[in-house]
Amino acid sequence: MTKKHDKLVDLVTPSRPTGPIAHRVKGMKDIQPGAYPAWEFLLQSAGRLARLRGFERIDTPVLESYSLYERSSGRTSDIVTKEMYSFLDKSGERLALRPEATPGIVRAYIEHGWFNLPQPVKTLWYGPLFRRDKPQLGRYRQHYQLNFDIFGEPGPLAEVELIFLIHELLNDWGIEAQIDINSLGCVDCRPNYINELVKYYKEKKHREQLCPDCRKRLIKNPLRLLDCKEPACEALAQGAPQLIDFLCEPCKQHLVKVLEFLDNLGIQYNLNSQLVRGLDYYNRTVFEVVMPSESAQRPLALGGGGRYDQLIESLGGRPTPACGFALGMERLLLYLDPHKVEVSQTRPDVFLAQLGDGPRLKSLQLFEELRQAGLTVHQAFTKNSLKSQLALANQLKVKYALIIGQKELLDGTILLRDMESGSQEVLDLKRVKSIMLKRLAKTK
Ligand code: AMP
Repeated sequence: MTKKHDKLVDLVTPSRPTGPIAHRVKGMKDIQPGAYPAWEFLLQSAGRLARLRGFERIDTPVLESYSLYERSSGRTSDIVTKEMYSFLDKSGERLALRPEATPGIVRAYIEHGWFNLPQPVKTLWYGPLFRRDKPQLGRYRQHYQLNFDIFGEPGPLAEVELIFLIHELLNDWGIEAQIDINSLGCVDCRPNYINELVKYYKEKKHREQLCPDCRKRLIKNPLRLLDCKEPACEALAQGAPQLIDFLCEPCKQHLVKVLEFLDNLGIQYNLNSQLVRGLDYYNRTVFEVVMPSESAQRPLALGGGGRYDQLIESLGGRPTPACGFALGMERLLLYLDPHKVEVSQTRPDVFLAQLGDGPRLKSLQLFEELRQAGLTVHQAFTKNSLKSQLALANQLKVKYALIIGQKELLDGTILLRDMESGSQEVLDLKRVKSIMLKRLAKTK
């Protein structure tokens, strides 16, 4: 009998797992209270400046087919070979959590026929990406990017427009970063360069110094040798032939035009012959925003992008030139000027404080009345002590607090406190809305 009863209890009481507390998955990050204003500041500023330049917000799904990335990012890229989270869904289809945004955006461009829209099509995209990377400061397994892409513009103005936008955004955020530029040439000129590069690395004295990964890269993807972070490989890359010396005439002209425009706009850049980016689809101009590091470590990249004129065709669309750029949110947040976020915060107009149940009810009604009149009202209805309510009002840097207690409720009045001077006056509760609207129009 007792046993039966115990079983019954077991069925109705959910079993609680014992052991250590639940923890987040390695490489993942929580956004905690207080952190959002900075994210919102970045997003709003990016949205505003991009919209002014004709970029339209779009979105794509987190899940895409695995083959999309194999066909675009490249079979031998680190993203596909090492970092992608992929799985077979119940129907047997291989899916991937998107590790980068461009392939999904390009798929959407083709699938929805955006080539029928007036070109160039300019898009702004924001969302999380997943890479099983080695976690460290500024590197997570889920991170967020802002992507800007321009479709249908073959000329150098597309890159210039993107770089100009990045320059404006960095200014708006108070981030002093460096813009690195290189050209990866095209299908006509790059093979000659790669031959020379392979020759250089195959020399015995060079080959012996390569890390095991770079020995594989020498066969599969020699350009990536320039990008290796191992100190010995980095040193070797310094002496390697430079792609810029092998560009064909049209690629050379394209790069010269980009640089001329940037010079005319007064945008500083750094020509970096080792900048190759880790993906297969780039051609011609590639660029990166880096934060020069004070220590001997590699500069941290805040963003990167480039031209990808063949990608749309290679995924089954009409040949369409395109280029894009991605900024990493978590990295921007490391360098964002906190003062810029602070001044962007709207200071509430009024703080409503109350003492007791009756006054609380009244201030709830007043809250709605003032809010509907267009005022930004803050309150702490769950706090009882006046001291702690006024402390919060101070923290929020509110100009006025309205205080209602039992006495005021009975008299049909309310106390208006100037939070800067500390002076107080009694107002008629019925006239409080019109008085506050007048006062705030004066002080704003
Ligand atoms: P990529 O798509 O690799 O060119 O990355 C564009 C930008 O996203 C980088 O410059 C970084 O700012 C950011 N980023 C890339 N990978 C990560 C990561 N694992 N964690 C945080 N930010 C990242």
